Amino acid sequence: MVTNHYELHRQIPVYDRADLVVIGGGPSGVAAAIAGARHGKKVILLEHTAQLGGMGTLGNVSIFMKVGNCTGIYRELIAEFASAHLPNGHEEGLEHQFNPFRLRYYLNEKLEREHVKVCYHTSFVSSVLIENQMSAVMINTREGLRAVEGAVFLDCTGDARVAIDAGAAYTSGRESDGMTQPMTLMFMMQNTGVPVQAYLPEGCYYYEKPEDLPQGRHLYWERMGDGTLLVNMSRVKGNGAKIDDVNFAEKECLRQVFSIAHYLQRNGFETYTISHVASQTGVRETNQLVGSYTLTEEDLMAGRRFPDVAAQTNYEIDIHSPDGAKVTDERHIDGYDIPYRCMVPASVEGLLVAGRAISATHVAMSSMRIQATCYALGQAAGVAASIAIDSHCKLRDVPMEKLHEALKKQGVHFVQ
Ligand SMILES: Cc1cc2nc3c(=O)[nH]c(=O)nc-3n(C[C@H](O)[C@H](O)[C@H](O)COP(=O)(O)OP(=O)(O)OC[C@H]3O[C@@H](n4cnc5c(N)ncnc54)[C@H](O)[C@@H]3O)c2cc1C
Repeated sequence: MVTNHYELHRQIPVYDRADLVVIGGGPSGVAAAIAGARHGKKVILLEHTAQLGGMGTLGNVSIFMKVGNCTGIYRELIAEFASAHLPNGHEEGLEHQFNPFRLRYYLNEKLEREHVKVCYHTSFVSSVLIENQMSAVMINTREGLRAVEGAVFLDCTGDARVAIDAGAAYTSGRESDGMTQPMTLMFMMQNTGVPVQAYLPEGCYYYEKPEDLPQGRHLYWERMGDGTLLVNMSRVKGNGAKIDDVNFAEKECLRQVFSIAHYLQRNGFETYTISHVASQTGVRETNQLVGSYTLTEEDLMAGRRFPDVAAQTNYEIDIHSPDGAKVTDERHIDGYDIPYRCMVPASVEGLLVAGRAISATHVAMSSMRIQATCYALGQAAGVAASIAIDSHCKLRDVPMEKLHEALKKQGVHFVQ
């Protein structure tokens, strides 16, 4: 008999339990874990690769965009990790290129100091619910399938993977056709000081002029003063949460990387050689939770403020063409609030979604997806989860004055 699905009935050992179980160790997961631990909670962070930092390290997105919300744990991280770049005030923008290997090391040490139990090489597999209340997650580990139990679960996977598996409603991509922003494989080149032999592997492309390039433009930074060039110039359309799209992107992006490096070596970077290619193709956009509130383009354009503000940003609307076309929609905005409700699923209890997968339209997410904002959302989620546990209340009922007071104690500063 041919079947297109299987049912799995297995006894899965419980590996551990915690107050807060954070799934995903990117900007939002790191901040959520630290915030929860500082609120006196036992925190376990489950990360399916070998490193923390998410796209910032894994994806070699080693640049903080200019945003004026340098607050809370994000600000502390800059103060400790890149003190020379710390802006004077919270509202002053920060734009900084960093070394992803140093951030990886810093985050390992930081989470150890904060008493967060980090489990590397653990992939979320499935949500376990009793009625509509999250009670555990199944994970794939080096020892096989295990369960981790918790009071609150924080989905920081970037894909709302935990929420979707728990049955939460979600959207994906543009409202008109579901297409998401394209993927990019970031890489670095190093100035060797001597001419290098330009290298173009078989199967790659010969780019003659800027218009031939995948984004139709140059997009790189050389700000570290040590000859490190960070390149963001490949572009492959597709949804980074789909098996086939990712399979295609990983191969096509690498072709583009070698082709772009070859182009650069012939056009001003004759002494540069590839020094690092991100361990995975960078994914800008996949799934968005449908939460208790959905952030919209109108909220951004109107600079809307909300009584349940959880994070703020003034980063522009920044949409790399989902069609894979050589255009990027960039529009200035003055600054806006992101409400706490964007992280609260409408139907699942015991779960918050933080980071780029919060409830937001395609246009709104193009602005809020920046690392600084994801750190801020994660911190708010970690604190809110801790308050819910202490107050024996549902996540949706966390008193906002308590949240804001606790965030203030953790160094978060909201612009009025
Ligand atoms: C090419 C590119 C360029 C960008 N440029 C910039 C920029 O210049 N400046 C800027 O600030 N931002 C930039 N961004 C955006 C920013 O990097 C991301 O939006 C941000 O990192 C999202 O943070 P996050 O915590 O939501 O998720 P992520 O950073 O995606 O982290 C998610 C983490 O969850 C883990 N995970 C996923 N699934 C599972 C699972 N099943 N089990 C366990 N763990 C899991 C992942 O391994 C990862 O560590 C860029 C993004 C891309 C792709």
